[in-house]
Amino acid sequence: MYVEIFGARGTYPISGKEFLNYGGNTACILINSGNTSVIIDAGTGIINLSRSRKLLKNIILLLTHYHLDHITGLPYASFLYSDGFNKVIYGPNILGIKIDKVLEFLSLPFLFPFDIVDKIPNLKLRTIENGDKKDREGFKISSIHSSSHPMGGVMTYRIEAEGKSIVVATDIEGGDEKVIKMAEGADILIHDAQYTEEEYLLFQGYGHSSSKMAAETAKKAEVKKLILFHHAPNHSDSLIKNEEEKTKKLFPETEAGFEGMKLEL
Ligand SMILES: [Zn+2]
Ligand SMILES: [Zn+2]
Repeated sequence: MYVEIFGARGTYPISGKEFLNYGGNTACILINSGNTSVIIDAGTGIINLSRSRKLLKNIILLLTHYHLDHITGLPYASFLYSDGFNKVIYGPNILGIKIDKVLEFLSLPFLFPFDIVDKIPNLKLRTIENGDKKDREGFKISSIHSSSHPMGGVMTYRIEAEGKSIVVATDIEGGDEKVIKMAEGADILIHDAQYTEEEYLLFQGYGHSSSKMAAETAKKAEVKKLILFHHAPNHSDSLIKNEEEKTKKLFPETEAGFEGMKLEL
């Protein structure tokens, strides 16, 4: 199983010399196994992923929720418009809104110049349910809905293939027992770490975690490796590095996720 992060930032994309090490693109993670690419979220990172030539024949795009930082890249993901891939987009039902409706919204004429779905050949759209656990193209994909993220919550995914496992828990406020259980024994946990401890005190209830909370979940779930993810857009390279160092003291197998981070499992 091959994993690469194409966007590790949260909330909105950012550029500038103080953000070069961790990157400024928003949430997008690639997981390859066999003939299939699983992509988690379509933040602006998906644009570089489209250009990377790392995509395999079958593509499963899993969306965690529909906040802009997780879908902004979708209309610009060039692989979608190619008929060289088999594509399925899975999204949760968030406050009664499903993936087909989201694409319809993104295609509104004052937002985008053409109907996205009309231009995508062989596209399948599916709703992913809370508690789903299914074999899809050689991957075992489980999902759990967590309501800690305003307003309609978020889906956390566990992806397994080749006897390895990775859990992506972004846009989550730490301490969710369901998420801890889902992450149990995972090889990799990619976890929201939007805030420093001091910031968390100011933004409690906003649906994000501090690096410390990510470490606590990693510890309780006894995962092998923790990747800090969804960095706040105002967090500079040096601040994130500092958070990584602090978090290593709580959970030694911690690394701050960055654009271009490759993990072989
Ligand atoms: Zn987000
Ligand atoms: Zn969000």
